Amino acid sequence: MMSILVYALHHEGAFNKNSLGAVTEGARLAVELGGECHALVLGEPAALGDELCDSLGGHGATRVFRVEGPEGLAQPVVDAMAQVIREQGHGCALFGGGLLGFEIGAGLTARLDAGVCMEVTGVRVQDGKLVAERPILQDSSVSDVHFRSDVGVIIGRLNAFEPKAASDATATVEDVSVEFAPHSLKARMVSRGEQRGADVNIEDADILVAGGRGLGKAEGFDALEDLAGVLGGAVAATRAVVDAGWYSYAAQIGQTGKTVSPKLYLAAGISGAIQHKVGMQGSEHIVAINKDANAPIFEFSDLGVVGDLNKIVPKLTEAVKARKGA
Ligand SMILES: Cc1cc2nc3c(=O)[nH]c(=O)nc-3n(C[C@H](O)[C@H](O)[C@H](O)COP(=O)(O)OP(=O)(O)OC[C@H]3O[C@@H](n4cnc5c(N)ncnc54)[C@H](O)[C@@H]3O)c2cc1C
Repeated sequence: MMSILVYALHHEGAFNKNSLGAVTEGARLAVELGGECHALVLGEPAALGDELCDSLGGHGATRVFRVEGPEGLAQPVVDAMAQVIREQGHGCALFGGGLLGFEIGAGLTARLDAGVCMEVTGVRVQDGKLVAERPILQDSSVSDVHFRSDVGVIIGRLNAFEPKAASDATATVEDVSVEFAPHSLKARMVSRGEQRGADVNIEDADILVAGGRGLGKAEGFDALEDLAGVLGGAVAATRAVVDAGWYSYAAQIGQTGKTVSPKLYLAAGISGAIQHKVGMQGSEHIVAINKDANAPIFEFSDLGVVGDLNKIVPKLTEAVKARKGA
């Protein structure tokens, strides 16, 4: 028998989709393990009313541990989860995808001397134990990860766990008092913003319109979103621009990002570095727009357009619109 603890991230009166997906997945696995799925929420009391916490029951959590503390920071959640896991004896801590989940999961792993598996796309029960499935070698293969530690930490890839429609089930909400480590309260949330493109699953798109540093600024993605919209595709990005905060990490293609093979990959303002190429070279058709005729991306493009993307992309969008309207 093993119970699973899931961290549920909330913002403005709702839990995020990846957290709800993790609760759904945790509940499914807990049934197979003969245990229960519990959730931990942390925040200001005003933001964590009984009704909101109780709603996690509809996704499969039987108990919800509500902890009062500063929102949006990793270390207080590490303190809280470590305490609850030690007190309640959970055998697994499960996280949906997202940067905060990675940070908390890594901290919790160190704190509990646990085994960890990140970027997980599936979890199954085998011989009464959890096995995490993690894609490797540019997603060309999947490895099975088994845990030898008392607690296994599993961190899903973004959108890996789908939330099910909420049922009428309820959860028991229990207030837990946690004494935070002094270092956990040193950081402070100053402001909060949504990254563009965080909710799009680029691996499923048949058409990708990808942008790089040649866009010049974050707003450069407006034109790419317009073009992707009329083409019925999604927007992707290079590491240079996600590192700059112009677009979401979830949209990054390449060695340290995602590997994609859409029918059409349209690259705008992307030089074609090898670390980017490995993530998109399997695309059926590659079209590149770059003002530098010697840009490496032209070496592996089916069609290359030498010119200023600021002029070409809006015209292309208009042309597609006109063609579709015709
Ligand atoms: C270990 C490691 C891992 C990495 N992993 C990744 C990864 O996963 N994914 C990734 O993408 N990168 C990765 N990188 C970074 C990679 O090496 C490149 O630095 C990055 O891909 C460059 O991004 P870019 O093409 O957007 O920018 P740049 O290389 O700066 O290219 C910008 C291009 O835009 C063109 N341009 C400028 N203005 C215009 C205009 N107005 N119109 C048209 N074209 C214009 C320029 O001619 C240029 O070719 C990694 C690097 C390392 C060391």
